[in-house]
Amino acid sequence: MPDTPPTFQDLGLSADALAAIAKKGFEEPSPIQQLVIPKLLRNSTDIIAQAQTGTGKTAAFGLPLIEMLNPREFSVQALVLTPTRELAIQVSDEIRSLRSDSRLQVIPVYGGQSFNQQLRSLKKGAHIVVGTPGRVIDHLHRRTLRLEDIEFLVLDEADEMLNMGFIEDMEEIIKHTNPDKRTLLFSATMPPRIKELAKKYLKEQEFITVKQQPLTPRQTEHIYYEVKNAEKFEALCRIIDIEDEFYGLVFCRTKSDVDTVVSQLIERGYDADAIHGDISQDQRERTLMKFRQRRINVLVATDVAARGLDVVDLTHVINYALPQDPESYVHRSGRTGRAGKQGTSITFITPREYQKLLFIQRISKTAIKKSIVPDVKDIIKAKKKKIADEVMEINAQEIGETYHNWAKKLLEHGSESDMLARILYHAYHAELDPDMYDELHTERHSRGQDLEGQARLFVALGKKDSITPPKLVKFIIQNTGVPNELINEVQVYDQFSFITVPFAEAERILAIFQKKNTGKKPLVTKARKKES
Ligand code: ADP
Ligand code: MG
Repeated sequence: MPDTPPTFQDLGLSADALAAIAKKGFEEPSPIQQLVIPKLLRNSTDIIAQAQTGTGKTAAFGLPLIEMLNPREFSVQALVLTPTRELAIQVSDEIRSLRSDSRLQVIPVYGGQSFNQQLRSLKKGAHIVVGTPGRVIDHLHRRTLRLEDIEFLVLDEADEMLNMGFIEDMEEIIKHTNPDKRTLLFSATMPPRIKELAKKYLKEQEFITVKQQPLTPRQTEHIYYEVKNAEKFEALCRIIDIEDEFYGLVFCRTKSDVDTVVSQLIERGYDADAIHGDISQDQRERTLMKFRQRRINVLVATDVAARGLDVVDLTHVINYALPQDPESYVHRSGRTGRAGKQGTSITFITPREYQKLLFIQRISKTAIKKSIVPDVKDIIKAKKKKIADEVMEINAQEIGETYHNWAKKLLEHGSESDMLARILYHAYHAELDPDMYDELHTERHSRGQDLEGQARLFVALGKKDSITPPKLVKFIIQNTGVPNELINEVQVYDQFSFITVPFAEAERILAIFQKKNTGKKPLVTKARKKES
């Protein structure tokens, strides 16, 4: 075995497939692809493959299917089952994008879409059908889909399908399939129910699993802002405004929070819409379509409503409210920074939620860095730059004589810079007005005085240990490296002392003293309540 990781070529793919992969922009196969692709191409066993979400499982089965199916034959040769309509659409798009022969028809079928439209596509001939279990069964009952000749059955996101209660549907579908087919089961997790399913329906099988990769993709930057509840909306607007092209998902805790944020956004002139549990399937589909087509660029959602939703190229995921648990944080932020693109996950926390954020960081093994909400001056600078860029992009020919003549006429009334300033003011003063932003509390307080977001620590050293405030500060600096200017409100009593430091430093100090005297009660602990 060579030490260097295999290339797509090493996996036994054809020149056509390699060209399609290059066009798609994949540089090297992901670990699950390295293992699955050669087994599918060379062997003839069934396969169970486990790898986390976002590891490229679709191409792991999609590329070999494309290689092995015959576009000249007029029959359904592979069925891919997915738990949700979004995944059906996404998986069929992904497979289509990997084809080199456009005669190979990949048809998604799912509930909600017109039956007749699907029927027409199926009648024209489908080689790969990607569908949700319910709709596939409908087609089987109406005999508009035949699975007797399939060579491959793919159970994609099998754990999700079981979670969503599709087991009976899956079993019924399997009964309609050709017994000689190969079955490929893909799943992010392997609960016992999946193993039972595999035992029951798969023949000679190979089990492939890849070591857990970092839970969140490296291309995602994770930051958090400390904001008061009443300031979240202002912070959200600033984040959107400082970007050239914001395209993001905003997660709220409840349906009514989603509705509130969306109506506030719309009122302020943003292209935003909502998805949550009370929204009809039809409306949801329309909203997602608008979002995919970028007619709206802010989609506000609850966790449940966003499940299964897959939109690539998001620039941002915003946790307007802190997620309930680390898994949900990973899930949410995993929606940005995909496929080699840079993304940002931003979390709003109120000062009291700091502990919860630390817990999420620890479990998800993600460093979430503190940052500050963009400053109004910087936002306006960014907007001006965008305007200047757009102005320079205008093609000179496009402007035409009318505008030049008009410009000459206007210049009769004043100097060039005076007239240009007037025009700019007329066009942009509303958009560039700093007064449309609300002040944030961090901007109202002068630095240093604002002790919000700080923790009070109890130190088990006092005057009895000949401690004085300067000595205590020096002691903390020497042991922890926390700089002088971050140590506030130093109070030394006979038996003990107190200091106040920002949350992050508090956490660091506590961790260091925790380690120093294992077994014994640490020298520094959290103060019971804030004393002042
Ligand atoms: P999974 O099914 O494991 O959750 P997907 O198949 O949806 O993951 O792939 C996640 C993203 O990674 C997709 O945008 C896909 O185009 C991209 N991707 C897949 N394989 C590669 C690769 N080898 N190199 C770069 N990007 C890839
Ligand atoms: Mg998948």
